Order: sequence, then C-alpha cells, then structure tokens
Amino acid sequence: MTTTTNADPVEIQKFSELAHRWWDPTSEFRPLHEINPLRLEWINARVPLAGKNVIDIGCGGGILAESMARKGATVTGIDLSKKALKVADLHSLESGVEVRYKLIAAEEMAEQEPGQYDVVTCMEMLEHVPDPAAIVRAAATLVKPGGHVFFSTINRNAKAYLFAVVGAEYVLRMLPRGTHDYAKFITPAELSTFARSAGLHVDGLKGLTYNPLTKIYSLNQDTDVNYMVACRMPL
Ligand code: SAH
Repeated sequence: MTTTTNADPVEIQKFSELAHRWWDPTSEFRPLHEINPLRLEWINARVPLAGKNVIDIGCGGGILAESMARKGATVTGIDLSKKALKVADLHSLESGVEVRYKLIAAEEMAEQEPGQYDVVTCMEMLEHVPDPAAIVRAAATLVKPGGHVFFSTINRNAKAYLFAVVGAEYVLRMLPRGTHDYAKFITPAELSTFARSAGLHVDGLKGLTYNPLTKIYSLNQDTDVNYMVACRMPL
C-alpha cells in the first residue's frame, strides 16, 4: 500500500467546503456544469462510452462521472474529498444513475486495479496536486493496453494567468479567489512529456475557451488557457 502524500490538504479542504453546492449549476461549479457536455461529447466521439469500464480520477461531486454512466459506461469515481464523494453518492441515488465512488488516491487505486479500465479520465484536477506526473503514471497504470486516457488542465502563460486567475476569480468572480494557483498550471508540452514518460501515446489536443461577453464555452484549437489531452496506451 502506498501512503498518500501526493495530495494538498488545503486543496482537498477547499473542495470539501463547497461540496454541498456541487450540483447547483449557478454555484462556484457552474463552469464544470457548462463545460461538461463539451468534454463528454469530445470523449465519446473518440471512444464510444457505452459498455466501457471507466475510471474518473478526481471526480468531485460526479458531474463527469454521472454523465459518462448515462452514456452506458460502468463508471468508478475516485477522489480524496470525503464530502465531495458523499454529495456524488447522494446525487447518484437521486438521479438513479449508478456510479461506484471510492475515497482512494489514484496511486493506490493503480496498485489495486492495474490495467482494468478501457477509459481513464482526469479532468480539472492535475493543477491541484503536488506531483501531477505521478497522477499521470497512475492513470497509465489503470488503463488497459489499447485503452484511452483523457486529461484536462490549465496552461501556464501570461494569457492563462489573465483569464484563469485574474478574469475568472477577480473580474468576473466566477470562481472563489484562490481557486487556482498559477504556479501549478501545466503546459501542453509538460503534460505530453508526463504522458509519454508513463508509456502513453498522445494523440489529441483540444482547447476550451470561454467568451465572457456571450458567456459561452466552446471547443477549438486555442489551447492557451483551458485544454484537454487525449492519450492511448499502445497495445
Ligand atoms: N474532475 C471533476 C472535478 C474537478 S474539481 C470535474 O471536472 O468535474 C477538482 C477535484 O480534484 C476535487 O474534487 C478535489 O477534491 C480533487 N482532488 C484534488 N487533489 C486530489 C488528489 N490529490 N487526489 C484525488 N483528488 C484530488
């Protein structure tokens, strides 16, 4: 068993404090609700989720996990926030969409269930952990040969600082101040290096932008701020 050192207790606490509002689409979690259909469809277009065994690392209240289960996948959601998982469980009971939630570190889950998953997702989480490369390695261990791994995070450059920190937390006040720490942002090149070092093949990169005037998110080639990476584990 691995002891969990790759978690920042302040980060976990931050999400736990807000957890009761997770499914309120007008709350601090509004951005996750709004981007969810976009990321879900991007994933589902690359690997049809129906019938797949999926694990969602850092699932929080279960927005993505439940939506993948609705597509017909068998979904496990893991996180280190007990409160977020409680909210996720309650929501799953209420919606009738079954998801297996577990309070466990990704690294420990990787020791317990290596090579068990067709699809691994890890969204908006890497920028909250001390050692993101270790999470990427855990994701690579969890996926089956030939399986798919998806990550999303925030790029690190002046524009990302302006949009993701100044814009979202101070100007538009979409997120509580301190939600994101610029120093923990990860460039697509860094994330691709983590993935390749873990034995994954990087085969897709997608940008996710927010237009503050129309308040609409869209998928495109602009990876300057928010972006997603699709990987495959070679057979
Ligand atoms: N992936 C979800 C939630 C993103 S919020 C979505 O995109 O909808 C970030 C989540 O990461 C929170 O639930 C937080 O508790 C979790 N998290 C942060 N550090 C973690 C760690 N070291 N291990 C597991 N989960 C972690």
